[in-house]
Amino acid sequence: MRAIILLGGPGAGKGTLSEILTRKTDYLHISTGDMLREAVRSASLVGQAAKSFMESGSLVPDSVILDIVEERIDSGDPQAHFMFDGFPRTIGQAEGLDSIFVRKNARVSNVFNLTVPREILIPRLTGRRVCKSCGAVYHLINKPPKNPGRCDIDNGELLQRTDDSEATILNRLLVYENQTAPLIAYYENRGLIRHIAATQTPDQIANIVLGFIGA
Ligand code: AMP
Repeated sequence: MRAIILLGGPGAGKGTLSEILTRKTDYLHISTGDMLREAVRSASLVGQAAKSFMESGSLVPDSVILDIVEERIDSGDPQAHFMFDGFPRTIGQAEGLDSIFVRKNARVSNVFNLTVPREILIPRLTGRRVCKSCGAVYHLINKPPKNPGRCDIDNGELLQRTDDSEATILNRLLVYENQTAPLIAYYENRGLIRHIAATQTPDQIANIVLGFIGA
């Protein structure tokens, strides 16, 4: 078992990149954001614990995140490879992942850091729309659906994420700078990180990643 990690601030394009990599590789996509949104929708205990943190753009406590990630890893094939999207997001989570992987004899093989100039992040996030039924991601300007407000794949309704409002976005950027950006040095020290300019097209970025992971 091995894993790659997609790092980058909100709006860097981790979700779109994961969609492409999921189609082109056998890595299993683990997005803690998607798992938490699902938990909030189903009003599970995890969802109830996470809701207020998510609405304000703050981070859900590390212990909750590490529990759901370990449970997800354990629920699948022990030989599977994972693609983490939006996890880890703190040094505590990265250390927690290291301990889980020591127990499972697994390793992080690559960390891809998607870099985006701050001034283009906000329009990227405010224009984002997500299909209510299948989760496909669109953008009003960069990737508009064929029919306004409807998903190209299943005609589901396209909604704006509640945490994509401008006030919440500013908090998410701050949280990223303070709590997640230190992971760059954490993985740089281990020689695992590759920086990729996320101003390139999603397919160009995916090809760079595929080149590194040999898929
Ligand atoms: P995302 O879809 O990855 O942008 O996540 C949306 C929200 O879910 C974040 O703003 C956090 O509130 C929460 N969240 C997702 N992943 C994590 C994580 N690894 N650690 C803490 N909170 C998370």
